[in-house]
Amino acid sequence: MKIGPYQLYSIETSEFALDGGAMFGIIPKPLWEKKAPVDEQNRIEMVTRSLLLISDEHKIIVDSGNGTKWQEKFKDIYRIDLDNLNLEKSLAKYGYTPTDITDVYCTHLHFDHIGGNTKLVDGKLEPVFSNATYWIQNENWALANSPSEKDAGSFMSDDWSVLEENDMIQFVDGRESFLPGIDQLLTYGHTTGMMHPIIGDTSQKLIYMADLVPMAAHIPLPWVMAYDNQPVRTVKEKGEILPRIVDEDWIIFFEHDPVHQASSVQFDGKHYKLKDTVTISE
Ligand SMILES: [Zn+2]
Repeated sequence: MKIGPYQLYSIETSEFALDGGAMFGIIPKPLWEKKAPVDEQNRIEMVTRSLLLISDEHKIIVDSGNGTKWQEKFKDIYRIDLDNLNLEKSLAKYGYTPTDITDVYCTHLHFDHIGGNTKLVDGKLEPVFSNATYWIQNENWALANSPSEKDAGSFMSDDWSVLEENDMIQFVDGRESFLPGIDQLLTYGHTTGMMHPIIGDTSQKLIYMADLVPMAAHIPLPWVMAYDNQPVRTVKEKGEILPRIVDEDWIIFFEHDPVHQASSVQFDGKHYKLKDTVTISE
């Protein structure tokens, strides 16, 4: 798919699984289980899906997934599997390698979004995208470096310490555009200062939903995650952006849906729901 100056590619970087109850907050299991079947530990199948944007000047990757720095214990807990899908393989499919990337757009600093920023080589941390600028929202950076008890488990400084040491981070406010042809939405319900890139031209817009709508099942307003710091605010933020998405027929990109890369959205007078699924790249 091409939008504006960019050729778009869907880059799956891992398969993993999280607790279904945590993924759907207050929604009763009999409702969500129909959309997301569980394994024997009540976990639902998910992926980490990055978006690769290629123009003449930039090769941008939006988020980098779980990455490879996992001990077996955590790999087991989150059922992280890099055999089928991983960053290198998915980039190679379209003829790219991590060193080609010029910009890493970090929506927020949770480990399943930026774990792939760094890697361990002989026990030492190294940047995965060695030639890139890493774009990080400053309030989210502040939170990640002094998280609350609730979200401390979601942030891991190994995902960014070596980037800071090497001056590879560019901090942004996240409200204004900082990469060409990319508008910004900033949300606070899931975590403080989560950035959503909106790629667009006059005929088409695509928004990277990150953890605002992680899977297609999360399109309806009250279907929000227990991970969210301010779930009421998430519902409000979805209620603000979804009418625009419907009216202007935007494409929404799913970072965690195991099946669908993206879709359009419809409103039936009562509920928001998936309209048509969209394939960004084969
Ligand atoms: Zn998150």
